[in-house]
Amino acid sequence: MSGRGMRRILRAFLLVAALYLGGCRDKMEVDCLYFNGTVYLLDSAFSRTQALAVTEGRVVDAGDLRTLLIRYHFKDSVDLKGGYLYPGFIDAHCHFVGYGKSLGEVDLRGTRSWEEVVKRLMPYLSNPNDTSWLIGRGWDQNDWALQEFPDRALLDSLFPRRPVLLSRVDGHAVVVNESALRATQFEDNSKHFTGRASTRGAGVDRDGRGVGDSGSDGGAGGEAVRRRDGSLSGVLIDKAADLIQTGIPNPGISAWKKAILAAQRACHAVGLTSVQDAGLDEQQLEALRALEEGGKLSMGVYAMVSATPDQLMRYLSRPPYRSQQLHIRSFKFLADGALGSRGARLLEPYNDREGHVGLWVTSPDTLAYYAPLLARAGYQMNTHCIGDAANRAVLQLYRRSLLAHAQSTGTKPASARWRIEHAQVVHPDDRAIFRAVGIVPSVQPTHATSDMYWASERLGPQRLPHAYAYRDLLLLNGWLPLGTDFPVEEISPLKTFLSAVFRTDSSGFPKGGFLPKQALTRRQALRGMTDWAARAAFEEDERGRLLPGMNADLVWLDTDLMSAGYSEIRTAKVLGTWSRGKRVHPYSGK
Ligand SMILES: [Zn+2]
Repeated sequence: MSGRGMRRILRAFLLVAALYLGGCRDKMEVDCLYFNGTVYLLDSAFSRTQALAVTEGRVVDAGDLRTLLIRYHFKDSVDLKGGYLYPGFIDAHCHFVGYGKSLGEVDLRGTRSWEEVVKRLMPYLSNPNDTSWLIGRGWDQNDWALQEFPDRALLDSLFPRRPVLLSRVDGHAVVVNESALRATQFEDNSKHFTGRASTRGAGVDRDGRGVGDSGSDGGAGGEAVRRRDGSLSGVLIDKAADLIQTGIPNPGISAWKKAILAAQRACHAVGLTSVQDAGLDEQQLEALRALEEGGKLSMGVYAMVSATPDQLMRYLSRPPYRSQQLHIRSFKFLADGALGSRGARLLEPYNDREGHVGLWVTSPDTLAYYAPLLARAGYQMNTHCIGDAANRAVLQLYRRSLLAHAQSTGTKPASARWRIEHAQVVHPDDRAIFRAVGIVPSVQPTHATSDMYWASERLGPQRLPHAYAYRDLLLLNGWLPLGTDFPVEEISPLKTFLSAVFRTDSSGFPKGGFLPKQALTRRQALRGMTDWAARAAFEEDERGRLLPGMNADLVWLDTDLMSAGYSEIRTAKVLGTWSRGKRVHPYSGK
């Protein structure tokens, strides 16, 4: 039978059923029936049903269509057309608000000339009264026919009042206009940066670094490129670029609100209904709160507050906060750097740099100082640890604090659910600590398939199997939250699923998968981006499963994640997304 014939019969059946049974007064009236599809409940038995009943933003019941029609009277219905309904996806580690901000910036990647860069700014010319900062990112003069740094003259004439800052692809250089120099009083403030101002605009090499102009501290200097007449060309390098960026005012709550709404729309379109933002400041949190009060926050946001001394002081003196959509009860710390730039802290030197073991971003002593304070105030501690030395130090200091706190309060250490973000290289000797005190490894499977091309160069063959070991980490506690770290990676949770299960890139490389023993099963991967992600945020009774009473956060796909092949999943379509029973994708424009 054709799909249309099938649908017609179902519709007729529904109508008859509704007429026949609608008369029964004792039937409960509920908002919406989702039918004619496969519904994954993510309950402990991993059940699938044909239909789902939802009312007032919550799941009421699930089962076969007949049973639901007998039990309920429905005000509305959604025909799933043979598609697949899942709990809304949750990203357990991302930079949601930061991503929203980047959506408001001009993408300059792939430009072939300075003129093309300027052309991409044209749409922003329309409002001459706009004096907010115009930010762009991604130019690279090495891709241009004329491989020279630009001059601000053109920007000055087009944007006389609006400060413009355009970053080079690596972030080490920027070009700004006169208005930006004026707004930050750059000439006055630049006297304090260590690099010397240069008159040799041409003396900058292809990597965008000042040649022989490394400043008094021998390498970490900066340069403000000057024209022949001594005036600034607008190109600022390293410390000079940092200096002007510290002068950009915080965009303010209304700009953050705009960024959040843009991020929210894009994330709903890929099936996300909840995100865990790994590092927010007070203004961003205020913007989220204001949006929720105005009824505009349809994304569930679990906030990790950035652990600056200021914010630690402020938030630790208050109890955790929880409303329908916003949940503040954790802090984000950074123990070390990243593997790619050799900043991750390792126990033994890097395989590809002699004697170098990476760096601490926050010393273990500082982390150990704050840990008991967080435990006492009831906040979750979430620490970025990439290298095996960082993982070891933080696991040990977590264990000390958690055991001491559990002893003094008569609670279980595992109830704190403290997290290690990334847990990228973990020495096998240290794994037992995760299990002993219930520490949660929070991992991003796309990092494995992004880093696999060079990770063995950094780590060498002996250590490589200790890295991206998601299956081993899952087995420690029996559950594992998954995220992406977007915008470092793409926002789609389907990429997470593919990397976790197949461990290859989109061309199928490497054959059989990267460290294939560490692949997750399909069920594990789906739980990692729903139920287990919710659990990492203490929200497992509300999100991540479709059990009665839980949020009707739903995503409707045309593809069965439990059986489809790599390329089918890669091109799977998100046909609809609902947040607490309200349709949020496709976006209706309100
Ligand atoms: Zn991150």
